Amino acid sequence: TLSDRLTSVFSSLRGKGRLSEEDINATAREIRLALLEADVALPVVRSFIAQVKERAQGAEVSKALNPAQQVIKIVNEELVEILGGETREIRFAKTPPTVIMLAGLQGAGKTTLAGKLGRWLAAERNTPLLVAADLQRPNAVTQLQVVGERAGVPVFAPEPGNGVGDPVAVARASIEQARRNNHNVVVIDTAGRLGVDSEMMQQAADIRDAVQPDEILFVVDAMIGQDAVNTAQAFLDGVGYDAVALTKLDGDARGGAALSIRHITGRPIMFASTGEKLEDFDLFHPDRMASRILDMGDVLTLIEQAQRTFEEDEVAKMASTLASDDDFTLDDFLQQMAMVRRLGPISNLLGMMPGMGQMRDQIGNVDEKDLDRIAAIIQSMTPEERRTPKIINGSRRLRIANGSGTQVSDVNGLVTRFFEAQKMMRQVKAGGGMPGMPGMPG
Ligand code: GDP
Ligand code: MG
Repeated sequence: TLSDRLTSVFSSLRGKGRLSEEDINATAREIRLALLEADVALPVVRSFIAQVKERAQGAEVSKALNPAQQVIKIVNEELVEILGGETREIRFAKTPPTVIMLAGLQGAGKTTLAGKLGRWLAAERNTPLLVAADLQRPNAVTQLQVVGERAGVPVFAPEPGNGVGDPVAVARASIEQARRNNHNVVVIDTAGRLGVDSEMMQQAADIRDAVQPDEILFVVDAMIGQDAVNTAQAFLDGVGYDAVALTKLDGDARGGAALSIRHITGRPIMFASTGEKLEDFDLFHPDRMASRILDMGDVLTLIEQAQRTFEEDEVAKMASTLASDDDFTLDDFLQQMAMVRRLGPISNLLGMMPGMGQMRDQIGNVDEKDLDRIAAIIQSMTPEERRTPKIINGSRRLRIANGSGTQVSDVNGLVTRFFEAQKMMRQVKAGGGMPGMPGMPG
């Protein structure tokens, strides 16, 4: 995975303090592969990488992140930006009903989406009406009726007299019905074909002209990968649309289609569908999709946390501790433990930062209570004991235990752990700092 490959890029790069051409290229290469693996169309990958490189070259140097992390952060930000930045919301008509029309290939998930959208809209205090304007397949109407029943949303379906066989008439009649029955939103399900064809496009365009939708949603299966771009373009030319709904994101597809479609059509992605059940549906979140495309949500979390956690002065303090010839003290121990603790559940990713990984192993799984107890013990020591822990003999241990409300065995355990950590820190210092640790002299 990208995470694995980047981990090796991380460990081969050291905190140089600025982004070199080489760093940018090395990282860009991995990102490029990841995008191609995620089915992003090649021209889109090219222009995207060019954009990222340009931004990386002009980027200010970050104190908290190493060069690879910094490039990845830029890539992520650009991805989120291209995917739409903020989540795009439905634009409701000034005068109800708001008309939403679904268009897309057969099997894309339109009918399923109509039900999901209906349920979602109803939960948001709307009074939607689903409209069966797919009269192409024999059981398409029944399918929508079943979905509507499950969603608890009424369905407008053709009956003799309101235009059997004529989807345009059905769509038009549904708007009248919505006005009569106070439905504030109408969701029109339309027919699709297995491939793009002009008759289908014409039918969709005719429905569009008849009802003048407030939103046309292009529904597309994320699993179709590279083909998504051609289909998206064909529907843009043939029918036109305001936004995209991406379906079947529960599959293996990494969602590169989202990036390609967004980049090529300029249309925002509004909804994401992630399963066959009605509740497998949500507004599209560009940040989540960016992580999915990069396949490195955890790494991004780490980067964010690293940035938040290693405040500049703290980094400076740590760096000077590491750089000084002074021995590692109990105060340093407490400080580092608190730092590792703050990284929380992602501490298992600390292995990416040499030195910190060892620190984490030394410390083990400290929880908040452990940390409080350790702090209490250390605070019950004299300044001299903290600086020179060797002097902490049996009688001092008893005094410290009493003073901190702990047992002598707790004090013993802490002192043992500290000596192990001190030994490790001596090795790290002898090795010349902590390579790869953000902001640390490498
Ligand atoms: P339509 O022809 O565009 O109306 O597509 P349908 O709504 O009939 O969906 C086609 C198939 O895809 C059905 O079997 C659905 O259950 C399935 N489907 C739709 N959306 C999703 C989704 O988000 N995830 C998965 N796994 N299946 C879906
Ligand atoms: Mg359908």
